[in-house]
Order: sequence, then C-alpha cells, then structure tokens
Amino acid sequence: MQQYISQLNEAQREPVLQKDGPMIIIAGAGSGKTRVLTIRIAYLMYQGIDAFNILSLTFTNKAAREMKNRIADIVGASEAKNLWMGTFHSIFAKILRSEADKLGYPSNFTIYDSQDSLRAISGIIKEMQLDKDIYKPKQILGRISTFKNSLITVKAYFNNPDLQEADAMAKRPRMGEIYRNYVDRCFKSGAMDFDDLLLKTNELLTRFPDVLAKYQNRFRYILVDEYQDTNHSQYLIVRALSDKFQNICVVGDDAQSIYAFRGANINNILNFQKDYQGVKTFRLEQNYRSTRNIVEAANTVMDHNKTKLDKVVWTANDFGPKIKIHRSLTDAEEGRFVASTIFEQKMQHQLNNGHFAILYRTNAQSRAMEDALRKRDIPYRIYGGLSFYQRKEIKDVLCYLRLVINPKDEEALVRVINYPARGIGDTTIEKLTVAANHYKRSIYEVMQHIDKIDLKLNAGTRQKLQDFVTMIQSFQVLNETHDAFYLTDHVSKKTGLVQELKKDATPEGMARIQNIEELLNGIKDFTEGQKEVDGARGSLAEFLEDVALATDLDKDTSDEDRVALMTIHLAKGLEFPHVFVVGMEEDLFPSAMSMSTRSELEEERRLFYVALTRAEHQAYLTYAQSRYRWGKLTDSEPSRFIEEIDGQYLEYLTPAETNYRFKPMIDKDIFGDVDKSKLRLAKPVSSTPPKYITDNQPKPEAAIRKLKPVSSQAPSGAANLFDNKLIAGNIVMHERFGRGQVLNLEGVGADKKAEIKFEVGGIKKLLLRFAKLDVI
Ligand code: ATP
Ligand code: MG
Repeated sequence: MQQYISQLNEAQREPVLQKDGPMIIIAGAGSGKTRVLTIRIAYLMYQGIDAFNILSLTFTNKAAREMKNRIADIVGASEAKNLWMGTFHSIFAKILRSEADKLGYPSNFTIYDSQDSLRAISGIIKEMQLDKDIYKPKQILGRISTFKNSLITVKAYFNNPDLQEADAMAKRPRMGEIYRNYVDRCFKSGAMDFDDLLLKTNELLTRFPDVLAKYQNRFRYILVDEYQDTNHSQYLIVRALSDKFQNICVVGDDAQSIYAFRGANINNILNFQKDYQGVKTFRLEQNYRSTRNIVEAANTVMDHNKTKLDKVVWTANDFGPKIKIHRSLTDAEEGRFVASTIFEQKMQHQLNNGHFAILYRTNAQSRAMEDALRKRDIPYRIYGGLSFYQRKEIKDVLCYLRLVINPKDEEALVRVINYPARGIGDTTIEKLTVAANHYKRSIYEVMQHIDKIDLKLNAGTRQKLQDFVTMIQSFQVLNETHDAFYLTDHVSKKTGLVQELKKDATPEGMARIQNIEELLNGIKDFTEGQKEVDGARGSLAEFLEDVALATDLDKDTSDEDRVALMTIHLAKGLEFPHVFVVGMEEDLFPSAMSMSTRSELEEERRLFYVALTRAEHQAYLTYAQSRYRWGKLTDSEPSRFIEEIDGQYLEYLTPAETNYRFKPMIDKDIFGDVDKSKLRLAKPVSSTPPKYITDNQPKPEAAIRKLKPVSSQAPSGAANLFDNKLIAGNIVMHERFGRGQVLNLEGVGADKKAEIKFEVGGIKKLLLRFAKLDVI
C-alpha cells in the first residue's frame, strides 16, 4: 500500500491520508482527482474499513469497473468485490429493487430508456388529442425530466402557479396533465424512467426513516467523482446518506461542469463548505496528463469565463507540439484530413488506433468522420448515438424479454403485441387501452381477464389475445429454470421474430439477423460471466438490468484497437494521446442553441476546456467552411474558441483568415507534401503582401485570391479549383452522388459549374470549387 501512496505527490497524498470527515477536492483536469479517489478507497480498506461500508459514485460504470480493478490490484480481488461502485443510476436502481414494495412498485420494475419514455409521451399526446407540433414529445420529456430532477412532483407542479404560468406562456397549458398522465402510465406499467431512479430514491429516503438509517449505517464512507455534474436530486441523496457519519469525499472541477442543461448544479460544488461542518478543502494543481502547451492553452481558454473558482493548473511535462489548427472547405474534407493524419501518424510513430480520439459537439458530425475512416480502412468505434440495444430488431426482442419479467410493461407490450403480425389490430389495442385506463390496470391484466370484460371483441380476436398471454406465460415458466441466453434464443424463435426477419432477403434484412446473433453472443458472454459472480445465475432479469443501465461507454468490452469517436460530453474523465476536436465552428461549437446568455456560452466554453484537456500529447482543432447541416449546405465561420487561445500555443496548418474571395482547397490528400516554392499566388485583392498557404501563422489581412500549382503537382484525377480541365463527356466520381457523366460546363473561375448526370439521383449542377470530383 505504501508504495502506491508514495507514488502520489504531496498534495494528492493529503486527502488520501485524511480518513474521516467531510472533504472536497477541487482541481483542474488531469491533476489526479480520480486517481486520488481510487487510492483513497484502497487505503480506507487497508485501514480496516469493510468494503461493504464504502459507496463510490462515478460518472460511468466503466469508470467504476476500472477503479475497482485498480483497487483489486492493491487490496486483492476478494476484498474489492464487495465495494459498491457505479453510477448513481445503477447503484440506486439496485437499492430500489430491494425496497420497491414500499413505494408500490414491483421489485421487477422495468427501467424505461428515453425511447420508451418518448413513445409513452407521444401516446399520451395523441390520446389527449393535442397538437404534437406544439406539444413536442422531446421537449415535453425534457421538461418532465427537469421537474423530476428538481424533485417537483405532479402534486408540487399543481401547487405551483409560477410553473403553470410558465407553461401557459409557452403555449402548453396542459403540460401538467401530460406530466400526471405520464407518471400514472409509468406507475401502471411497473416502470421507472431514468429520472425516477433518483426521484424515487429520494422519496424512499425521506418517507422511510428506517430505510434511510439502514443505508446511512451501511455507507459509512461515501465518495463522489465528477461532483460538479450532480443535479439537485443526486445532491440530496448524497446529503441524506452522508448525514449521519459525514464521511463524505467529493471531487470535482468547476471548470468541467457541462451538464447544467440537464439540471446539474454547479452550486453543489460551491456550497459544499456550507452544507457540512468542518469541511477540509484540498487543491491539486499539477497536471500529469498533458503537455505544457495543452495545459497552458486550456488555462487561457478558461480566462474568458467570469464564473469560476480561482485555480492554478501547471505541469512539469514538456512543452510538446503546439495545438494544430486545420481548416477545410467541407465537412467531408475535414474527415479526410483527420483520417489521413491518423494514418500518417500511425505510420510515422508506430501508434495504435486506440491512441486517437475524435471528439465532436453533436452526434450528427460522426458520419463524415466515419466515411473518411472507412475509406482509409481505419477501424473505429462510435460511442453514443443510437446504441446497439436501441436498434429496432434488438429492441423488439428486448421488449418480449421485458414482458417475461414484467408483463405490465405497457410500452413493451404495445410494441410487440402485433409484431410479428398476429391479427391484433389498432382498434383492439385502443379498446384495451381504454379499458386499462378505466380499471386502472395494465393492458396485460385486461387481456388476462378478457373473457369477463365486454369490449365488443369478436371471438377470434379474443382468442388471439389469450394466445398471446399464454405465450408470455410459457416464457415465464421457462425463465424460472433457464438462463438469459436460453430464453432469448427461445423467445426470438417462438415469437416468430426470426422467421419474420428471414423473409427479408435484402442486405439490410440480413444485417438484422446478424444483429440478433450478436445479441445472442453478447448474452452468452453475459451469462457465462455472471455465473462466476457469487449468487448470480445469469438470469434474464440480471441481463435486462445490465442493458438498461449500461451507458454507452460501458459496452466497450472488446479489446479491439479502434479510434474512438464520441461527443465531448461523453469524453469526460477520459484521456487519449492524440485528440481531434472537429467542427470548431460558430453555431456548431459554441452551439447556436447555447449562445443567448452568458452562462450558456460559459458552459460551452467549459465543454471546450473538457475537450482540449482530454489530449495528452497532441490536440488538433479542425473546422470546415461549409458543411451539410439538416440536409443543407451551410457556410460557417471558425469558432471563437480558437481565437480565445493565446496564439503562442497554436500552429496553423492552413491560413487562419476567413476573408477569401475564393477559398482555396488544399490538403495533403491531393497534393502530397506541398512544396512552397511550387506555389504562386494570383494577384491579391488588396495591396497587402501575399502570404503563402503553408505559412504557419499568416496575418488575417492576407487576401489570397487563387492558388495554382505551377507544376502539375496535383494528381491528374483531382478536379477542383486547381484543375479546370474537366470537359463534357468526362466520367466522374462524386463522393456523395457516386458515378456520373459531365454534360455541360458553364461559368469561369470560381463560378465554374458542371452539369452532371449521375447514375443515381439524376442531373445536378455543381459548383466546381466545392464539388469533390474524381475523373475516372
Ligand atoms: P479529469 O478532470 O479529466 O477527470 P483527473 O483529475 O481525474 O482528470 P486523473 O485521470 O486521475 O485526473 O489523472 C490524469 C492522469 O495523470 C492519469 O493518467 C493518471 O494516472 C496520471 N497521474 C495522476 N497523478 C499522478 C502522479 N502523482 N504521478 C504520475 N501520474 C499521475
Ligand atoms: Mg477524473
């Protein structure tokens, strides 16, 4: 143990050695906060604290697993096994299962993901005959989520005229009713959504003092990582649980608070001192993760934020390379730059794919990156976005499985009752829903008693409903003795799902079957793995819990070497030697939706700080001058965040200016290594001296009109601004539209257009300075 402690610096050692009492560690990125927490837990155990009495809350389950493994290395696997470590959601789901009856829920309650919640809300909006363009399901769900995370129950909502007025002003006067119906519907289904896991835990701890006492006595030591991103609901849970022993250690960085939009409250960190008596505050200042260039550049970014704690971050590491800035014409070209840089760096420095991460503001940006990586045969993995478990065919199987565990689960039932088609139509489902609402029962219960309720259904339909119930019951019987793998295999066949998919012989249809196979493989792994764990048998319920609570990072179980693609939000706490932050453009990052107030902009800036500080060795910031957004080609300006970094830390791979009449396109893909002497400039628009394109930091005034390689450096296939030799009749390849033939050319210079007939998509007129065409 001493050896691990001696590896810490002095400032890190102090909070590890401080055993009892409330304490907060506030420190910048990469300063070893997570490491301190890990060693602290190991040291607590070394001092004789039972693992059973320690609760550690992390941002992802993956982080928890990694911490647990490290602790196991130090104190031994059998000791570490009993630690309670995980996300708020997974830890409190576990507690809620054992206490569910107190709240009127079955212990096998379903956990709804956001897809289920959205379906439920859409259903309610339809039933209430509201306009879904005004009552937008996503926005409604967001609002409900805010209520829940602020502990505003339906009752509290109706007691609060301000809230009601706000919704009325937003032209949604029936918001409260929707909220009430949604809560009723979830309750009737025996389901909790994600926010309920926290809300109901709070309810449990406040309404049942004996339950609170039980968990207070159990969790004598509580540790929370990424405390800056806890919301009010989480904050109250931590406070309640730590109230008795007050052995609470939280770590966080106010500069990395990036979830205010989801209700995280930075004040939780700022007010910690007031909440507990005799709080010890620790600060860590030395960054071990990143080069000096990155650390200092990130500090200059944060200088632009007004709301922040005074903090010093420095590093003893080398300066390292400067942060590289790259501009391209389009998002596709940006992708090509990233892919070719990864390719070159791998070659030159013997790096693995796993050394690289591509971070973006929005999931939609991944596509251009994926295309480019695929063309280069670089393996990658996308985190976030539509997860595997949300794909239609997978979700269908999972919904059957959910019904086996909890047949009251309405969203699951409605989804699969007539899929594959078994003659149970919409009218029947509507009648069942009305009856279920009337009797305050679930649809499944209505179906179980279909003989005794007069729903004016014909005998054939009644029989079909009974058959469905019988089928689910037969699965339930099997579930008592068999594991999750057996059951899933059986269910996917017996329900007719696999046969249904087999009917579709298209490549997409075949891919769906393969996905089901992959699901089965995953379940096999899971059941085998679970059987090694004490008391677990790899049951279906265990598997479904795992699926419901896995954040996307958690599914990264493979050891395959891949480039990581994810949103910056997801990258919190992680580190990579090389990091590309792409889409550094105004309206994208900072996001257009987060620029109306100073605090929103400051949150975007903190997000940028998080992005930059993920890099250990080299950071790239890239932007495109135009990109497809919402299906439209949109012009964009470089992000203000680039300018906010002190210039001494930056190296421009392309000129920094934006005021070109014509935007030259140049990247290594086309030219190979650009030799400056081979480039000459056309007449500049202004009288400012011309600048070469490969200059490192050109002045903004430089106005370059047009660049042309003197010799034919460009491969003959590249048709763009530099090569106007395209003639009618040429067969060309376009990266979006595929193969086509040039019919016509018109205009000159930058306005030159080609009319091209594509094999798919017909005739299109393309501006050559934008179109990426290869003559074939
Ligand atoms: P973030 O704010 O991004 O979550 P953090 O403060 O949690 O960062 P860690 O992830 O714990 O920082 O540490 C960053 C890196 O520095 C890790 O690779 C860690 O192993 C390393 N590190 C931390 N402390 C030391 C130390 N005393 N000696 C050597 N390496 C260290
Ligand atoms: Mg950390």
